[in-house]
Amino acid sequence: MTTTRIPLHLRELVRQRAGNRCEYCQASEWLSGQLCHVDHVVPLAAGGATEAANLCLACAACNGSKLTRTDAADPLTGERVALFHPRQQQWSDHFAWSTDGTTIVGLTACGRATVEALQLNRALAVAARTLWVSIGRHPPDQA
Ligand SMILES: [Zn+2]
Repeated sequence: MTTTRIPLHLRELVRQRAGNRCEYCQASEWLSGQLCHVDHVVPLAAGGATEAANLCLACAACNGSKLTRTDAADPLTGERVALFHPRQQQWSDHFAWSTDGTTIVGLTACGRATVEALQLNRALAVAARTLWVSIGRHPPDQA
């Protein structure tokens, strides 16, 4: 989360590139009715730049959980690992949907740590996904 002004053209690029979805929990702006934030993957305070390669789209809940963190503990091993980096990693390499499509499963240490740190399976998100699944709009196709 940042208060630094991000130029409009960069905001539009990030939103379009992400397909109007949070790049962490995959929530759709259209289904949630909420605009996502443009997040610095590596925070400004940690030396991250305001450039396309360091920006991603993040919903308010993910952004609010991530704050300035760049790493977290893998709940399986306790080892500290880097959080998922949407510009340098593929979502489907680190996460998968549960069979019913409502829960995000961490496939790797990075994925598990990110699920925990960003609370990707918070109760409200699971409740919303349950509704989206019931109308055939979730989970999204993965690139
Ligand atoms: Zn999110």
